[in-house]
Amino acid sequence: MSVVRIKKDDTVVAIRGADVGKTGKVIQVLPDKNRALIEGLNLVKKTLRKTQDNPQGGIAEKEASLHLSNLMPYCPHCKKGVKIRCDRDEGKKVRKCKICGHAFDG
Ligand SMILES: [Zn+2]
Repeated sequence: MSVVRIKKDDTVVAIRGADVGKTGKVIQVLPDKNRALIEGLNLVKKTLRKTQDNPQGGIAEKEASLHLSNLMPYCPHCKKGVKIRCDRDEGKKVRKCKICGHAFDG
């Protein structure tokens, strides 16, 4: 069983791809696909169809999912993407930064 490294509402940093070094908040994790949607990362332009409300049509930017292996949890203390270790605090699983011990689960 693998450790859940990334969860919804985490702040993560991209370590590969066009957005390397950028951080964002996890909007949604897609565990079946090992991918996640991150606010403001991996934006793709989507053409909007012309509708009655929007007769001009247009282009909207939307987040595309990123593979979890391209993401790392962002530690606010270390100010970078870090590896996670899993501790047990009073029977509860807590994810902590491997470097400074910052707890990701409050
Ligand atoms: Zn840290």
